[in-house]
Amino acid sequence: MTFESLGLALPLLKAITDAGYTTPTPIQLQAIPAVLQGGDLLAGAQTGTGKTAGFTLPMLQRLSLGAPATNKRGKPAIRALVLTPTRELAAQVEESVKTYGKYLPLTSMVMFGGVGMQPQINRLRDGVDILVATPGRLLDHAQQGTLDLSQVQILVLDEADRMLDMGFVHDIKKVLAMLPAKKQCLLFSATFSDEIKNLADRLLNQPALIEVARRNQTAETIEQKVHPVGRERKKELLAHLIKQGNWHQVLVFTRMKHGANRLTDYLNDQGISAMAIHGNKSQGARTKALAEFKTGDLQVLVATDIAARGIDIDQLPHVVNFELPNVSEDYVHRIGRTGRAGAEGVAVSLVCVDENGFLREIEKLIKREIPKEIVPGFAPDPSEKPEPIVLGRMILNNNGSRSGGGGGRGNSRGGGGGGGGGGGRSAPRGAPGAGSRDGGGDRNGRPSSHAARPGAPRPAGGGGRPPPRSGPPKR
Ligand code: AMP
Repeated sequence: MTFESLGLALPLLKAITDAGYTTPTPIQLQAIPAVLQGGDLLAGAQTGTGKTAGFTLPMLQRLSLGAPATNKRGKPAIRALVLTPTRELAAQVEESVKTYGKYLPLTSMVMFGGVGMQPQINRLRDGVDILVATPGRLLDHAQQGTLDLSQVQILVLDEADRMLDMGFVHDIKKVLAMLPAKKQCLLFSATFSDEIKNLADRLLNQPALIEVARRNQTAETIEQKVHPVGRERKKELLAHLIKQGNWHQVLVFTRMKHGANRLTDYLNDQGISAMAIHGNKSQGARTKALAEFKTGDLQVLVATDIAARGIDIDQLPHVVNFELPNVSEDYVHRIGRTGRAGAEGVAVSLVCVDENGFLREIEKLIKREIPKEIVPGFAPDPSEKPEPIVLGRMILNNNGSRSGGGGGRGNSRGGGGGGGGGGGRSAPRGAPGAGSRDGGGDRNGRPSSHAARPGAPRPAGGGGRPPPRSGPPKR
């Protein structure tokens, strides 16, 4: 099957050839014809499947064939709106719009928080056909009256599950209320919680249903490995692996921002060029780190889960879990950064005795055991005892209970004892102020909708609603 046979027009085919793609990915095979027909779409696809081109290509074609719309000033009116959860993803989607639309006379812009409003206002004044935005900043513009969405014909919700996780549900509803009733809606989500299904029911009209990679499946092309190691020797082991293996372009995950900073300092001291990317970094610093990493100038990018969401780097050879995530699904998202679109990749997890509980949860989720391999010289001390894991103000005890945290939201998953007590649930993802979540300080305190996180494992005997959150951990 070729891109030609999917019914794409010549300017798009030319851009696809320029990008070096020869064969459509499974999601593209299904999504492109469905979107070209003009109907709604509900697509289950993770990043790395080629989903961005899956909606961007047919969207560009429909816009180019449709009549141009103009706003009150006689400038191009926004005809397509793409909402994404994070700034990085928004930037990458808009880059794709530009890449695939380079031979078409359509204009686009990206809009997210953390940068000045005025340049965005100026850009809007000039008129754009396609707007890619994060919900918070979009609403800021709407409130200021600098944005007109009354002529939107195509709406895309990209990574809708993550948007709901990040507490954007009310923002999304507000945005929907500003759009014309008649439009084509495309909803992409890696997972299908009841919340996503509700949103889809409300938004979509007899959608085509596509699911390419089942939820929580890890790509076959990714080689996964666990290196058991002592708690205090992880940094040393990482530096050793990078140097011995002559690894370049390594994406390393830590649970928390300060961990990312400390690790970055250590690697730089060891002569390995590394930068951290997380929510405490300015947008400029994050963009710079990502750009240098993409070109290969930067050897290691250390990221927290939220900041890394949406990072799109072709054929990333190495992903390292310096710390296992406490939310098992994050493991799937993390290692999805490698082995993309059929390329091969290696995902390595450095696991100390504190994290054995997390590892068991992950293996349960992905339904396979990850091979364990001790690196010579780094065997863990068998007498090392598990210690609780501190996540911001939250402490995950190894007997499955939560302590500390001043009323913080609980997570009763831990290593060791496994699942006896505890009434909490997984730690909140995308907590306000974390990662690249849009909106900045003025939007702190927005509730996270993590409650409906699909498939978030609950501890045996737990499951009660947690106490109100007073201070989510920063990631
Ligand atoms: P996405 O799932 O949209 O984040 O895309 C994952 C990666 O696959 C991106 O780096 C794309 O550049 C790449 N990609 C998209 N479509 C294709 C294709 N048909 N062939 C090869 N690579 C592709």
